[in-house]
Amino acid sequence: MTDAQPASTPERRSRLVVLAGPTAVGKGTVADDVRRNHPDVWISVSATTRPPRPGEVNGVHYWFVSDEEFDRMIAEDDLLEWAVVHKAARYGTPRQPVDLALASGRPAMLEIDLQGARQVRTTMPDALFVFLKPPSWDELVRRLVGRGTETEEERTRRLDTAREELAAEPEFDVTIVNHEVHAAADQLVSLMMLD
Ligand code: 5GP
Repeated sequence: MTDAQPASTPERRSRLVVLAGPTAVGKGTVADDVRRNHPDVWISVSATTRPPRPGEVNGVHYWFVSDEEFDRMIAEDDLLEWAVVHKAARYGTPRQPVDLALASGRPAMLEIDLQGARQVRTTMPDALFVFLKPPSWDELVRRLVGRGTETEEERTRRLDTAREELAAEPEFDVTIVNHEVHAAADQLVSLMMLD
């Protein structure tokens, strides 16, 4: 674990915050809260090969792309990081929008899985890595079941992944416990505004 340092450079690029944590901990909900209440914060829109869920909008929640399009993005080095998540679909962060946001001086945030966070740790070590943690394992299971959007098989797979992901907490700079979404989002934003 390292001390959190700002990613400031002579050109005054802003700090990149990477939010990760186990599946169903509420990363997406916390990111939504930040999106609603802190329009000054830029949040990356990932590309994914999974189909949209009801209510999800292309270009807002994700860029929903075909396998061929995702292959093309990888081949052209368009992605800052990418991973197969839950052994089900590919997810990746388009590189150029991140660079533009940082160059513009806006606080920027990625909400990605642990594999992706590890890749960004390698390529952008100055970023601040934030681990979002559930109040307890039972609460995590309750949230995953409560969401009701996955099949039984998917749920089991996601819980297996979550168990491994929880063990990664020491790799992160800061931990936020997601007792309540709004408070967690405010805590996250306060980390971005420290500089
Ligand atoms: P969901 O399908 O529930 O929206 O997201 C599944 C998982 O994919 C979440 O853990 C989310 O953090 C992760 N994820 C979303 N976008 C990205 C991305 O661009 N890169 C990586 N590595 N993971 C992502």
